[in-house]
Amino acid sequence: MSHSTLPGQPFIAYQNAELCMEDVPLADLVQQHGTPLFAYSKAGMLSALAAYQRGFAGRQVQICYAMKANSSLGVIQVFAQAGCGFDVVSLGEMTRVLAAGGQPERIIFSGVGKTRAEMRAALQAGIGCFNVESEAELDVLNQVALDMGLRAPVSIRVNPNVDPQTHPYISTGLKGNKFGIAHERVVHTYQRAAALPGLQVLGIDCHIGSQITQASPYLDAMDRMLDLVQAIEAAGVPIAHIDLGGGLGIDYHGETPPAADQLWAQLLAKLDARGFGQRHLMIEPGRSLVGNAGVCLTEVLYLKPGEQKNFMVVDAAMNDLPRPAMYQAYHQIVPLRQRPEPTQSWEVVGPICESGDWIGHDRALNAQPGDHLAVLSAGAYCMSMSSNYNTRNRAAEVLIDGKRAQVIRERESYTDQMRLEHLLDAS
Ligand SMILES: *Cc1c(COP(=O)(O)O)cnc(C)c1O
Repeated sequence: MSHSTLPGQPFIAYQNAELCMEDVPLADLVQQHGTPLFAYSKAGMLSALAAYQRGFAGRQVQICYAMKANSSLGVIQVFAQAGCGFDVVSLGEMTRVLAAGGQPERIIFSGVGKTRAEMRAALQAGIGCFNVESEAELDVLNQVALDMGLRAPVSIRVNPNVDPQTHPYISTGLKGNKFGIAHERVVHTYQRAAALPGLQVLGIDCHIGSQITQASPYLDAMDRMLDLVQAIEAAGVPIAHIDLGGGLGIDYHGETPPAADQLWAQLLAKLDARGFGQRHLMIEPGRSLVGNAGVCLTEVLYLKPGEQKNFMVVDAAMNDLPRPAMYQAYHQIVPLRQRPEPTQSWEVVGPICESGDWIGHDRALNAQPGDHLAVLSAGAYCMSMSSNYNTRNRAAEVLIDGKRAQVIRERESYTDQMRLEHLLDAS
């Protein structure tokens, strides 16, 4: 029996020319549930988490899964059961965590635009910390907490002004960016926060970007954070925890990001060298916990060979897989059944009426209509960014655990899509 794994995809392999996730042949899933279909490997998620846990062995740390990467309830449950906290950016996300059995005190609430209603609900639930992004937000949170007779636990998101060397749309820690408090204002902002009776200052946080593939931006950010902690504490405000955010990249197409445990070995050495080794730590990884644990399965509908380009039209589209259209992102595309070497190159495109609806450019593939393909590294920022554009139903999702495959989201129906709409009254 032949067995060959794919680079960067330890839980996906060809067994006798059939692509399997853990012990489940993906063709069986397609037959049972149709396409487009997302499949996630539980072992893939837990092994990504284990790399962080190894890296932090013996330290005080709270790993908060940044669930905007994939906010499906079944995925949240996997991380809640593994002891993770959650980084949420909306009341909707907090509601999902609570529905999936996550603990409120392990929730941190990030985002530049929290509403009063969101603050009230999060205070009511008893979340662990608000990551505050502006001085104006401090004042509003203070007021909301006082009105409820509570003190809101806060951390202030600072902008360390380091270049994460990633795509500009997912770079968040530079000066010209809407996120966080500028370096020069940080000490002043902490003094203000500490003087507000409705707030309890707990920590400091940053998040410098996403799909970061080098250790150096993290090491620079950590240095600047520690400089700030020293300055803030010298000004009389103690800082209980340091939260370095998320952003670690994954291997989509030969990228070589540091492994989570190796990255943290370097960061912890820095913390130790600067005397912060015993500080309580938090991190907010998203993509690196789920990205390579997921695939999107799709059927080839039509081949349109042409003079300039050959088009392969598949039944997944930019509403299911928005990253290529949004960020020119690369996802590997492989067949579910291995065939002889391809001799032709294809533009893999979806059915949506937009030229931006492509999934892969110039891919060597040997597939006929009716064959199935797997779009790899589709666990993060795919389903959670999906839409109903062109009135397409959102895909179904399956979670694989060994030989077992469980549907964690049914395929949407047209009735589901129209449920909240009303036809005009007769006049
Ligand atoms: C998106 C986000 C994360 C997670 O980023 P990844 O690149 O998916 O790890 C963490 N923290 C904050 C504040 C975020 O906005």
